[in-house]
Amino acid sequence: MTFPDLVPALKSALPQLRGRVLGNEPLAPLTWFRVGGPAQALLMPADESDLAYALASLPRELPVTVIGLGSNLIVRDGGVAGVVIRLGRGFNETKVEPGQRLRAGTAVPDLRVAKAAQEAGLAGLAFYRGIPGAVGGALRMNGGAYGRETKDVLIEARGVDRAGNVRTYSNSDMHFSYRHCGVADDVVFTQALFQGASGDPAAIAAEMDEITAKREATQPVKSRTGGSTFKNPEGHKAWQLIDAAGCRGLVVGDAQVSELHCNFLINRGNATAADIEMLGEEVRRRVQAHAGITLEWEIKRIGIDQASGTGPT
Ligand SMILES: Cc1cc2nc3c(=O)[nH]c(=O)nc-3n(C[C@H](O)[C@H](O)[C@H](O)COP(=O)(O)OP(=O)(O)OC[C@H]3O[C@@H](n4cnc5c(N)ncnc54)[C@H](O)[C@@H]3O)c2cc1C
Repeated sequence: MTFPDLVPALKSALPQLRGRVLGNEPLAPLTWFRVGGPAQALLMPADESDLAYALASLPRELPVTVIGLGSNLIVRDGGVAGVVIRLGRGFNETKVEPGQRLRAGTAVPDLRVAKAAQEAGLAGLAFYRGIPGAVGGALRMNGGAYGRETKDVLIEARGVDRAGNVRTYSNSDMHFSYRHCGVADDVVFTQALFQGASGDPAAIAAEMDEITAKREATQPVKSRTGGSTFKNPEGHKAWQLIDAAGCRGLVVGDAQVSELHCNFLINRGNATAADIEMLGEEVRRRVQAHAGITLEWEIKRIGIDQASGTGPT
């Protein structure tokens, strides 16, 4: 499917844009699942002021969606209407600051946050070693692992709202809860300031190696997946509910519930976004029937469902 070309209108609305804008740009290669249709326009701002300029100048009725490294995302087969923002080079710096702090742009992969902290002897950020997203996604999802989450290590974040205003959000302004940030959905985060603690680089490196080994043993980290599909309901583990409902290995089209970790869905090669989403909905239905518990999607689904022409939810 292709959208009407938005690029000429965008170029005339944004004459001073320093970044790039591409029409009907495939999004599948930018996601871990490797599925889904194109962005009507993919905008890659040069830096924070370029992003603020773009958001202030774009017509207010134009939908704007931001994506990170696509590790928690199903892009639907009909693609994403309007403008999709992806941050790149101008948001890719890390800097160690006094007081055991680390500043990172939101395009920095979480892995690099963990490594930069390790090299500087900053403890407390090693958990980012195993999360395959970038800092913007970690802020939006309150990403975490092994008993720590972004809420525990964030001092403040910066972001740009839909009107183009740049703002700093303190940890409490972020209204974090489990895999959720309460800041308005249209805010694009640009930077994060993390608090570490004094630590020994060799000990932190050993902790990171242990995380890597644990992940490789328990998760299909080399597959086309979106990580944990559903949030753990209060007092339960989603994977146990899914397993008990008989869904381990369940297949729809070329999408499958992972045999290794059954809260992970995988694209075996030729799955469509619809296959993956239908499989997830079937898992929810079976868990509801078996345990009376409604699973809530952790994975974000964006764009238009090709069959019904509807979306997003
Ligand atoms: C193998 C595997 C293992 C995983 N393990 C974990 C884990 O242990 N813990 C965990 O928490 N997650 C895990 N995940 C899920 C995922 O990596 C995290 O949710 C991650 O934080 C998403 O970051 P991303 O850059 O990929 O964001 P995307 O998937 O691209 O987007 C996710 C959400 O963040 C928003 N977003 C992205 N960038 C920005 C920005 N700059 N400003 C505002 N909003 C933004 C998007 O709009 C979307 O709503 C795993 C995923 C995989 C594939």
